[in-house]
Amino acid sequence: MANNNYKNGGGGGVKTKSISSSSSFSSSSGYKSKPSVTSGLRRSSTGSVSNSTGGSHKDTPGVSGRVRVAVRLRPRNNEELSTDADFADCVELQPELKRLKLRRNNWDSDTFEFDEVLTEFASQKRVYEVVAKPVVESVLDGYNGTVMAYGQTGTGKTYTLGRLGDEDTSARGIMVRAMEDIFAEISPETDSIYVSYLQLYMETIQDLLDPTNDNLSISEDPKNGDITLPGATLIEVRDQPSFVELLRLGEAHRFAANTKLNTESSRSHAILMVHVKRSVKEKDSVSTIENGSSKSHMSRTMKPPVVRKGKLIVVDLAGSERIDKSGSEGHTLEEAKSINLSLSALGKCINALAENSSHVPVRDSKLTRLLRDSFGGTARTSLVITIGPSPRHRGETSSTIMFGQRAMKVENMLKIKEEFDYKSLARKLDVQVESLIAEHERQQKAYKDEIKRISLEAKKQVSEAEKSYADTLEKERLKYQRDCMESIKKLETQLAVKQSNDESRHKTSNGELIEVKKLLQNEILLRKSAEEEVKKLQNQVMQYKKSEVAGNAEILKLRKKLEDEVHQKEKLEEEISMLQNQLLQLSFDADETRKQIESGDHSIEMTPDMGSLVSPVRQPQIKYSGEQEKGPVAKLFGQVGLQKILSLLEADDPDVRIHAVKVIANLAAEATNQEKIVEAGGLTSLLSLLTTSEDENIHRVAAGAIANLAMNESNQELIMSQGGISLLAMIAENADDPQTLRMVAGAIANLCGNDRLQIMLRAEGGIKALLGMVRCRHPDVLAQVARGIANFAKCESRASTQGIKSGKSLLIEDGALPWIVKNANNEVSPIRRHIELALCHMAQHEVNAKDMISGGALWELVRISRDCSREDIRILARRTLSSSPSFQVELKRLR
Ligand code: ADP
Ligand code: MG
Repeated sequence: MANNNYKNGGGGGVKTKSISSSSSFSSSSGYKSKPSVTSGLRRSSTGSVSNSTGGSHKDTPGVSGRVRVAVRLRPRNNEELSTDADFADCVELQPELKRLKLRRNNWDSDTFEFDEVLTEFASQKRVYEVVAKPVVESVLDGYNGTVMAYGQTGTGKTYTLGRLGDEDTSARGIMVRAMEDIFAEISPETDSIYVSYLQLYMETIQDLLDPTNDNLSISEDPKNGDITLPGATLIEVRDQPSFVELLRLGEAHRFAANTKLNTESSRSHAILMVHVKRSVKEKDSVSTIENGSSKSHMSRTMKPPVVRKGKLIVVDLAGSERIDKSGSEGHTLEEAKSINLSLSALGKCINALAENSSHVPVRDSKLTRLLRDSFGGTARTSLVITIGPSPRHRGETSSTIMFGQRAMKVENMLKIKEEFDYKSLARKLDVQVESLIAEHERQQKAYKDEIKRISLEAKKQVSEAEKSYADTLEKERLKYQRDCMESIKKLETQLAVKQSNDESRHKTSNGELIEVKKLLQNEILLRKSAEEEVKKLQNQVMQYKKSEVAGNAEILKLRKKLEDEVHQKEKLEEEISMLQNQLLQLSFDADETRKQIESGDHSIEMTPDMGSLVSPVRQPQIKYSGEQEKGPVAKLFGQVGLQKILSLLEADDPDVRIHAVKVIANLAAEATNQEKIVEAGGLTSLLSLLTTSEDENIHRVAAGAIANLAMNESNQELIMSQGGISLLAMIAENADDPQTLRMVAGAIANLCGNDRLQIMLRAEGGIKALLGMVRCRHPDVLAQVARGIANFAKCESRASTQGIKSGKSLLIEDGALPWIVKNANNEVSPIRRHIELALCHMAQHEVNAKDMISGGALWELVRISRDCSREDIRILARRTLSSSPSFQVELKRLR
């Protein structure tokens, strides 16, 4: 430490202005001037001193605060009053000038200026206000503060700091008054005060509140250098009396400790630490100001409260007198060094700070470590140096004054200790969470209750509904039961009535039953006898049958014989018929010729037998000239040739054509020519003439020629296949000339004799054409018609016998029967014969019987069987009648 920098130089009385131009120390209001004061920054600011409660600290720019130093002069004590009665005080105070004059001798003195000069008359109150009050106020504002007394033993350090003022309240020292001010300021609800009280002796820290803690260690936060005493007792004080009690206790312990250590309290340092923690209203908070206007809801609710933590350290230092004086208190030199170590270290640090030395040996002693923030730190520090008036201790007084002078040069950088109280926020939030949990629980309970209520209500409603449903159901059931019972009763009544009816009916029916039973038994007896009769008859029938079988065989034989006979007879009849036809034709021709002769018409060229349907057509001349007449035609045929003659059929001249036809017709009468004519296409030419020509003569002659050709069986089929029947039918329908019709009828009659052409002939209208021609009553025509019908009937009969045909006669189908019946007894014999034969043929088949009976044919047959002049026909008719069961039945019936 530098020496005597501010010492007046010699006796010139020249005052060295050693104190910076700061505001007046004596003015508490001036001292209180806060952050606005900026009198230069200190290089050695150690930053803020925080405490162990954690939380974030906001570094605010510090304000410069020089260590304030006041000097207090103790009044003369009794000893001094008596011993030094003849001597003047070694100091002279000029309080109004804040100056102190230290007398060197009677004529010379050094003048020192202090922040405050307190005379021996200064009251404790005034000392407190001048020295400590500004520091206390700073502590309440959140700064650290230090009040320290330095001086020779017995100069009043303890008097200034530690008097309790029990007997005289005006005597209360700084500690008591400081605490009074603190209590007056704080709010017990939000703020708190904790106190530690320690003694430092020979580099050992003892806990004055708990003497067992007699060696406390100092802990230093490696980050910010904050100094704490983890083992020290911290007692919360809530009121002044309890604080005074603590002080008293601490003093008692200090006394005991010093007794034990065989020392005096003047050799040890007493340190009172008061931790003041205050919550800060938002508007006062530095942090709030810095946060500006960002006051969202979240920031308001989640922002931790701001607290300020000020720490007041009051240090009653050990006596500053030099203890290395020999003989003092019997300590060894080493002990003396150790006793004084802290104090001398403090002096060195203050010197270093005062001289802006690069090294401040803070770590040299426990005291300097504990007071690190008080000198050159962030605390507001006020030092009172106490001096006595005695000139005998002038040296000590002088050194004390010099200490004070150097301390006045130490600049601190005051920093407010404001931080966010996260713990408090956490507690607050805990409270909120708990209340929310409670609220939630309440709501849950209410919800459950509501659910319960609703479910009870629902159950009630359901049970009511069920009850009403059951009631309705029961009513319905009873109703249906009633209805059912009534229905049953009705039915029972009906049943009873019915049963009584049934009973009466039963009685009557019983009588009937007995009768019926009797009848039944009779019937059974009758049946038995009848059965016996039947058996007898059956036996008889068997006998008959046996004899009948034998008879039948005989009959069959006879029948066979008979049929053979009939067949033979038929053949003969056919021949007879042919002969008759020829005869008929001849007679007819004769008649014609006779007529022509009679009429003188010689134009008729046809022979009388030309129309013969059995014999070939001949030239009329033949008849007259006999066999010799054949000559010219044969000659013509031989000379001209068939082809030439046939070609003439198509000649333009009608006369030529008619003659050509006549020639052909004549030639066709010869069986030998028929084939040649057909081969040469004569048949086709003749048929086409029927179509193309309208000349009736040609029709007649051509039809005659066709009729001649139709005698040959193979030609018959050719005629049919070339549509001859249709052409003939057409001519038959349109012609009026009996000769023409006779030729046409003759041609069709020839075709009717062919077994194979039956169906086709009938289908193409052959039978109808025949029947149509009967309109002409000429017997020759009718004879040809009758011949055709007889031929057809014969073929049908053959077919039926052979099993080829099964149905009714096509003649009947086509309506021939009436004409047949009508003409069966025609006076012209050829007609009659043909019809009689036809009837016999038709009658041979049962299928025709019914129509024949109804059509009157039966009577004709009967007549034939009796009256026919021809015996063979008569026999045939008879046989036919007897062999037909239908005819037999009908005849029986009529009989
Ligand atoms: P220190 O603590 O410095 O050793 P003390 O405070 O014990 O000194 O004081 C020594 C004596 O002086 C005490 O008896 C005390 O009453 C008395 N004394 C000290 N200062 C004053 C004062 N200003 N007025 C009256 N008496 C005082
Ligand atoms: Mg003392």
